[in-house]
Amino acid sequence: MNERQIRNYINGQWHYSASASRLDVINPATAQALAQVALSPADEVAAAAEAGHAAFLEWRRVPVGERIQPLFRLKALLEDHLDELARIVTNECGKTYAESAGEIRRGIENIEVACGTPILMQGYNNEDIARGIDEHMIRQPLGVVAAITPFNFPAMIPLWFLPYAVATGNAFILKPSERVPMASERLFELIDQAGFPPGVLQLVNGSKDTVDALLDHPLVRAYSFVGSTPVARYIYRRAAENGKRAQCQGGAKNPVVIMPDADMDMTTRIMADSAFGCAGQRCLAASVAITVGEARHSFTERIADAAVSRKVGYGLDDGVEMGPVISAASKERIERLIEQGAREGAGLLVDGRGKRVQGYEDGYFIFPTILTDVPPQSEVARTEIFGPVLSLMHAETIDEAIRLVNDRAYGNMACIFTSDGAAARQFRNEAHAGNIGINIGVAAPIAYFPFSGWGESFFGDLHAQARHGIEFYTQTKVVIERWPRQWSRQF
Ligand code: NAD
Repeated sequence: MNERQIRNYINGQWHYSASASRLDVINPATAQALAQVALSPADEVAAAAEAGHAAFLEWRRVPVGERIQPLFRLKALLEDHLDELARIVTNECGKTYAESAGEIRRGIENIEVACGTPILMQGYNNEDIARGIDEHMIRQPLGVVAAITPFNFPAMIPLWFLPYAVATGNAFILKPSERVPMASERLFELIDQAGFPPGVLQLVNGSKDTVDALLDHPLVRAYSFVGSTPVARYIYRRAAENGKRAQCQGGAKNPVVIMPDADMDMTTRIMADSAFGCAGQRCLAASVAITVGEARHSFTERIADAAVSRKVGYGLDDGVEMGPVISAASKERIERLIEQGAREGAGLLVDGRGKRVQGYEDGYFIFPTILTDVPPQSEVARTEIFGPVLSLMHAETIDEAIRLVNDRAYGNMACIFTSDGAAARQFRNEAHAGNIGINIGVAAPIAYFPFSGWGESFFGDLHAQARHGIEFYTQTKVVIERWPRQWSRQF
């Protein structure tokens, strides 16, 4: 057994789970175990739910201006420990140090926005909706809420939810991905120092059974989920069956249109980062590039050069631009999909399979891969690959390109590269996706905007971040009141 076991944080105390079911946490660059994570059973989830509920009853009465004070401290602690956290993320998740540091920054931005909760959670009112009658809308917290998060942004995605949940007066339980629990454990050590009352923020590790226990516990009132579409759909359904609120972000297959008038050097640089950055394991990775007209030749040539010249390796080594994928199973699955693409008629312009990184021969590396002339109806054109694989398609006109963009179930992101304002405007208006990029490769909304996935990429109505987060974690209460003058004591 690995000596290092990841702990739960329940009611302000660190606990080792009593569960005998454990998984290794693996560094994907070395295939070595870093730690073990226990899969917490239902009674440990119940302990967290009950402690959360008890904490909530007090916390909701703490004035909002006081509730945000520990968030200011948490922001400062995260800034002070950014380097250490980034190294943890790189080691458990595989991305480069710069990518890890970048995701922590984006997480911190959400804390900053949530510090505006005193204004963001204000209601509204009308005096005299009828003579002598006033009406007010106020926002109140829900109670205990939970987030279930994926492996690919271990530090950022918990922070899409946690700051808003507690600033609005809820108690919050995080169930991080069992594949990357180390960043969350460190985050909670900082949370412990930030001064939240016990039970307001809790960490429970595990996988499916732990999630089911959270979904079924009557004291847990709402769920924020990020992960694959089948699990998003499952959590949304089970939460609804239990009469709970849910926002569930799922997978993606993001198309990008490249017009012949695009600045090709800039486009290629940005596209290479979008398709191959984080080893393609971003829900906002460009995965299908649709060239229009003459762009076919100029873009294809350049992106092939960018793919073969990308430096792949261990994310903490100097100059490395792309790390491994998360697991041996994921590597195998991606390689199988590349093979399938070739069988379905795509050309293999750059094949990243079967390559090794010196010194990290056991790591789960796949080098950048480019499939050309991918048939729009093929499996590989529609399945989320979640690896460093870019599929190329071609269209003769922007209308045909937009039809290809919209011919898919996912709707996380769609982008266009062009120097033509009218083309950009048409695309913005017609593309079926919730996050649109115009000369942008990863259209990730900053913390003051909602992360607006559509279609199979999102189940729910209120998204993560900012005003949507505040609305998701609060319930509206409308008060209509009458105070007849004759009841007033005359002074
Ligand atoms: P995943 O769905 O396998 O796991 C996500 C979480 O769900 C984990 O905490 C896991 O323990 C839990 N889980 C897994 N199976 C479950 C089950 N059967 N029942 C209940 N809980 C279960 O996703 P992943 O592989 O960790 O992450 C990659 C996926 O996340 C990709 O599809 C990616 O597109 C998606 N993603 C989406 C967004 C977005 O904003 N839309 C952001 C990041 C990642």
